[in-house]
Amino acid sequence: MKHICVFAGAGSGRLPEYSAAAAELGRLLAANSLTLVYGGGSTGLMGVVADAALAAGGRVIGVIPESLTGIEVDHKGLSRMIVTADMHERKAEMHRLSDAFVALPGGVGTFDELFEALCWAQLGFHKKPCALLNAGGYYDPLLRLMRNAVDEGFTDKKTLGLLITAPAPGELLAALRGKSGRRKT
Ligand code: AMP
Repeated sequence: MKHICVFAGAGSGRLPEYSAAAAELGRLLAANSLTLVYGGGSTGLMGVVADAALAAGGRVIGVIPESLTGIEVDHKGLSRMIVTADMHERKAEMHRLSDAFVALPGGVGTFDELFEALCWAQLGFHKKPCALLNAGGYYDPLLRLMRNAVDEGFTDKKTLGLLITAPAPGELLAALRGKSGRRKT
């Protein structure tokens, strides 16, 4: 496991726990020589995780669609910035580059990215681990919704089992390493 894709809010959210978790994850990725692959933004939790990884000497690759580069949201100090023609190409590139997927707290953009990765894992299109960093319990309602989807017969228990969850970055990375070892990604 060398490249970790992190999905995260373009905003910082209400609680300081969200930014603290993003910063800790960035530091830990750098300390473990793991390259951060992310959406290339400079704002919110995206900016926090990227800045923390860079400050700790880590390597950070941003993947951003051309339309978002002109409006001053793209991070200017990354190890590498890949500019794609559109969102579809961006997602494909982020998937291609990464060995695992982690969602920090975020909004619909983050939900979309996490659920796409999980859906494709469910269908067997990839075997890369998918994880939720449940900082400050932000994702508790979503996990309840997913358990409800199992109870109501829309989601297989196995799919729920594919989603690694942890409240803190250290535990999350340990869990990812365990899974990725078993799955040989
Ligand atoms: P959201 O969770 O709705 O704030 O969206 C964040 C996710 O969508 C990130 O993981 C990015 O990949 C993508 N995204 C949304 N807004 C931006 C932006 N301004 N710059 C770069 N990526 C963004």
